[in-house]
Amino acid sequence: MAEIESESGLKIVDAFDLDADLRALLRPGELAEGIGGQCHHLPRYFYEIPSHEAAREIRLTPHFGLNEFVLVDLKEAARLRAFPRYVPCAIRLAAFYLERLREAAGAPVHLAVNGGYRSPAHKLSVAATPHMWGTAADVYKIGNVVLRDRASIETYNRVIEDISDDLYAMPYGHEIGKADDHIHLDLGYVTLVPREISEDRLEAPQERPRFAFEERRRGDRRGWPREPLSEVLPAGAHANPSASAPEK
Ligand SMILES: [Zn+2]
Repeated sequence: MAEIESESGLKIVDAFDLDADLRALLRPGELAEGIGGQCHHLPRYFYEIPSHEAAREIRLTPHFGLNEFVLVDLKEAARLRAFPRYVPCAIRLAAFYLERLREAAGAPVHLAVNGGYRSPAHKLSVAATPHMWGTAADVYKIGNVVLRDRASIETYNRVIEDISDDLYAMPYGHEIGKADDHIHLDLGYVTLVPREISEDRLEAPQERPRFAFEERRRGDRRGWPREPLSEVLPAGAHANPSASAPEK
C-alpha cells in the first residue's frame, strides 16, 4: 500500500489507543443504558479532527461539513472541545441521510448546536441516545421554516420516515422522548468499523496510523477521469442535480 500523507484525510483512531483522559470521556466499547433499559456498546473507532480549519474544510457530503456535527457548547467536556477532537466513524452515515433529507425537502437543513455528536460526557447524555454514536441529528430549521410547532415538525417527520425505514423521527410532544422545538432523527445505535481497521485484537495499539475516505476520494491520484460523474455516467443515470452544487 502506498504511503499516505497525514496532512490530508481523516486519521482513524481506535479509542483504546487514546490517553487515559480521553478514554475516560469516550468510554469506548462500554455499555450505556437507554431510557427503555436497553444497553448498547459505545463506539470505539473515531475520526480524529486535527484542527478547527480541518473541521471547517472537510465535507462528509456535498452539503454537510464535518463542523456541523461537532458544534457543541459548554455542555460538552472541555477536553472534547479542544483539538484534536474525536467523532465516531458512523457520523458519515448520518451525513449521508441528512443529504437525502435535504434532497427530499428541497431546502437547506440546519443542525442545532449540540445537535450532532455528543460524547458520553456531554451534559445532555443522561441516557444512551444515538447522538453518542454520531448517528443522530437535531434539526432546528429547514429552508426558512423554523421547526417549533406541531405542523412543521410532523410534516418533516413524515418526509424523514418516507426516505428510509432506517430513519427514526422523534414524535412531536413535550414529554421525554418527544421533541417540540426541533426535529430529532436517528439511525439507531450504529457503529461503523472502517475497512482500514483490523479487529483481530482487543486492546493493543494499531501498528501504524490509518486514514479514511477523504484521502481515497482524491480520484486524480488513482488516475480517475476529471470529468464530473454526470458526464461519465450514461444519460439519466445521474439523477441528482444538487450534488454538483456545493453551496448551501
Ligand atoms: Zn436529538
